[in-house]
Amino acid sequence: MNPYLNEDLVALAAQARRFAADRIAPGYQERDRTRVLDRGLMKAMGEMGFIAPELPEACGGLGMGSLAAGVIHEEIARADLSMSYVNLLASLNGQILSQHGRPEIVQPWLAKLIGGEALFAIALTEPRGGSDAANLRLRIERDGDDYIVNGEKTSISAADQADAAVVFGRTGSIDAGAHGVTALLIPMDLPGITRNRFDCHGQRAIGRGSLFFENVRVPAAHRLGDENKGFVQVMQGFDFSRALIGLQVLAVARVALEETWAHVAERQAFGKPLSAFQGVSHPLADLDTQVEAARLLCLQALWLKDHGAPHSAEAAMCKWWAPKLAYDVIHQCLLMHGHGGYDRGPMEQRLRDVLGFQIGDGTAQIMKTIIARHRAGRAAVPA
Ligand SMILES: Cc1cc2nc3c(=O)[nH]c(=O)nc-3n(C[C@H](O)[C@H](O)[C@H](O)COP(=O)(O)OP(=O)(O)OC[C@H]3O[C@@H](n4cnc5c(N)ncnc54)[C@H](O)[C@@H]3O)c2cc1C
Repeated sequence: MNPYLNEDLVALAAQARRFAADRIAPGYQERDRTRVLDRGLMKAMGEMGFIAPELPEACGGLGMGSLAAGVIHEEIARADLSMSYVNLLASLNGQILSQHGRPEIVQPWLAKLIGGEALFAIALTEPRGGSDAANLRLRIERDGDDYIVNGEKTSISAADQADAAVVFGRTGSIDAGAHGVTALLIPMDLPGITRNRFDCHGQRAIGRGSLFFENVRVPAAHRLGDENKGFVQVMQGFDFSRALIGLQVLAVARVALEETWAHVAERQAFGKPLSAFQGVSHPLADLDTQVEAARLLCLQALWLKDHGAPHSAEAAMCKWWAPKLAYDVIHQCLLMHGHGGYDRGPMEQRLRDVLGFQIGDGTAQIMKTIIARHRAGRAAVPA
C-alpha cells in the first residue's frame, strides 16, 4: 500500500498479477520470436475487465479511474511489455475516442477496444521527424461528406497488427503549425491503405511500421475533435500515456530487480553470497530506491489526473526518467547475472524492450522542454 493505492486497487493489482503470471508470462520469449501479439490473450484480458477500466460506464468502461488502469498496466508489463501495449494503446486511444468522437461512430469501436477485440494504433510520426510533431505533412482534404487522406506515417507501434488508428494530418496550411492539424479515426481495412513492419530491437511482439495512405476516403463523421484542432485538443491525452509508460517500464525494472536480489543472495563467490559484497548490493540498493521513487511519481501523475489537477510536467518527468532508469536498472541486473545474463533470455529481452521507450512517445529532450516550459513559461523556452 502507499498513499495513492487503497485496498481495492491493491486487490485489483493482485488479481491482474495472478492472471499475468499464469497466462501472459509463459509466452514472453516465444512472442519475441514469432513477433505476433496473442489475440486470444487480448480477448481474455478484455473479459477480465483489464483493458481501459478507466473509461466511463456510458462508453462501456468500468469508470474506475486512471490509477486502476495504472496498476493493471504494471502487472501486464511485468509479464510482457509488448502485451501491455494492449493496455497502453486502449487507454490512450479510448480516451481520445470517448472525448472527441461522435458516439454513433466511436461506440462500437470502444466496445471492441475494451473487450480486447480491437487493437488501435496512434499515428503521429512522419518520415521527416517525430520530435517536431506539429510540423506534420500527411494531407487530409475535405470532399463532400468525406475526407481524402494522402501521405505516410512511420514508426507506428502495432502498424501492421492494428484494426484502426487515430491519424493526425494537415487540413490547414503548413504555416498554421499545430493549429492546422485534424485527427481522424481510420479503420485499417479501407481501400488505399498499405502497411509494413520494421525489424525492431525490442518490443517485437507489438512491432512498429509505416502506414501509407493513397487517396483513402474516410467519412467526415470519423473526425475526432474539431477541424484544425486535432493537435491542440487530442494531444492532451498524451499526459495520460506518459504516466502509464513510466509504470510500464518500471514494472519491468522491478521484476528484474527481484530476480537479481534473489540471484545475488544465492550465488556464492569467494566463500560468500554475492550480496555480501557492497560492490554488488549497493548499486542494486541505489537503483531499487530510484525505482520506488519514480513509481510514486507516476502514481502521483495519475492521482492528479483523477483529481482533475494539472499534471503535464509530472507526466513528462515520468516519461523521461522512468525509461532511462529502467534501462539502467536492467543493464545492472544483467551484469549481476554474469555470463548467464548475456544469454538470450528474459533479462536481455527486457533490456531490449524498455529501450524503445527512451524514444517512443517523445524523447527525454522533448520531455525536458515540456517541463521547462511549465516551470519557466512558454515564452522563456521557445522551440
Ligand atoms: C518503440 C517506439 C515506438 C513508437 N511508437 C510510435 C507510435 O505508436 N506512434 C507514433 O506516432 N510514433 C511512434 N514512435 C515514434 C516516436 O514518437 C519518434 O521516434 C520520436 O518522437 C522522435 O522522433 P524522431 O525519431 O523522428 O527523431 P528526431 O525528431 O529526428 O530527433 C532525433 C534526436 O534529436 C533530438 N532532438 C530533436 N529536436 C530537439 C530539440 N528541439 N532539442 C533537443 N533535442 C532534440 C531528439 O531528442 C532525438 O534524440 C515510436 C518510436 C519508437 C522507438
